[in-house]
Amino acid sequence: MAQRTTSASLISSRRELAQLAAGLLAWYDRHRRALPWRAKAGEHPDPYRVWLSEIMLQQTTVKTVAPYFSTFLARWPTVTALAEAELDEVLHAWQGLGYYARARNLHRCAQIVAHRHRGRFPRSVEGLQALPGIGPYTAAAIAAIAFGRKATVVDGNIERVTARLFAVREPLPRAKEQLRRLAHALTPVLRPGDHAQAMMDLGAVICTKHRPRCTLCPWQASCLALKQGIATALPKRAPKPRRPLRRGIVFWLVRGGREVLVRKRPAKGLLGGLMELPSTGWAEVPPTLAEAECQAPLAARWRALPGIVRHVFTHFELELTVLAGSVGETTEGPGGVNEGETHRWCRLDRLSDLALPTLMKKVVAHALAHGG
Ligand code: SF4
Repeated sequence: MAQRTTSASLISSRRELAQLAAGLLAWYDRHRRALPWRAKAGEHPDPYRVWLSEIMLQQTTVKTVAPYFSTFLARWPTVTALAEAELDEVLHAWQGLGYYARARNLHRCAQIVAHRHRGRFPRSVEGLQALPGIGPYTAAAIAAIAFGRKATVVDGNIERVTARLFAVREPLPRAKEQLRRLAHALTPVLRPGDHAQAMMDLGAVICTKHRPRCTLCPWQASCLALKQGIATALPKRAPKPRRPLRRGIVFWLVRGGREVLVRKRPAKGLLGGLMELPSTGWAEVPPTLAEAECQAPLAARWRALPGIVRHVFTHFELELTVLAGSVGETTEGPGGVNEGETHRWCRLDRLSDLALPTLMKKVVAHALAHGG
């Protein structure tokens, strides 16, 4: 592999790049992973399966996604069937996959494809990216895998493999554009979808984060990081800024010893459209208990449960204190409190039927464990 001035500015000749791509495809033909959404060799990929799996795989591992993918496919075998489902059903089936905006976008996207595109996904990266929930990575993956377009697919795994192959020492995220250009240069005109999947497999199985299995790698003879003995040190990353901490108070209000008050979050925003236990706002400075009682959904004798519920979102960390209270079994709900939210009573033994996000499941477990 030819090297110019520094490894960071290294670009191999076209012939070398073509050889690398061919070596990777030959390896893929022998060692490809059998995944439930992946077309078998010689089969035409189904764009619906490709799209569904790519949305589920955003921020989520293959192992976690596999059973959800099978459930969704059995229940909604086509994009049109998914478009006809109720959003609540989709959110409920999505429970446990996290990042619920994906489920809402999935449903909206299915409706747009079913109604505006007559059930057919657009074939170009631009057309795909115009759909809800499809960013540059997902659009490139669908265009390449489902439609054989020469689109460059770059996720964390592929950044790692590329950084190592070319020994890119510049830290992420600054190195992103350089890695994208290198990955693009590696992408062949023929079989770009298999190339994308081969890169994914190589990153997942061989060029792993902590222990790359270089002796099994189709690129071991060319890999610059291996030659320089720095494979595990790449890619470098700039230190992440700390996530801010927010705090709040959540209300566990039991009616007649059998039901608990829940509400639906507004459709837009964090955890939009999901059910939750009512709470104060989440802020850097939490309300005092007295202030929180003023924001409680109903008047009750409140007591703070011991301990704190912690949860980490992408952009902040959250600590919730749980206030428990009870009311008599004929008490009405707060109806109409806070426009856009719908309160209702839910039987304690039916809480698992609700589309509760992980955070709220933690609150429920905490309340039940502390006799709330
Ligand atoms: Fe990764 Fe090793 Fe292959 Fe280089 S030789 S791409 S470090 S697995």
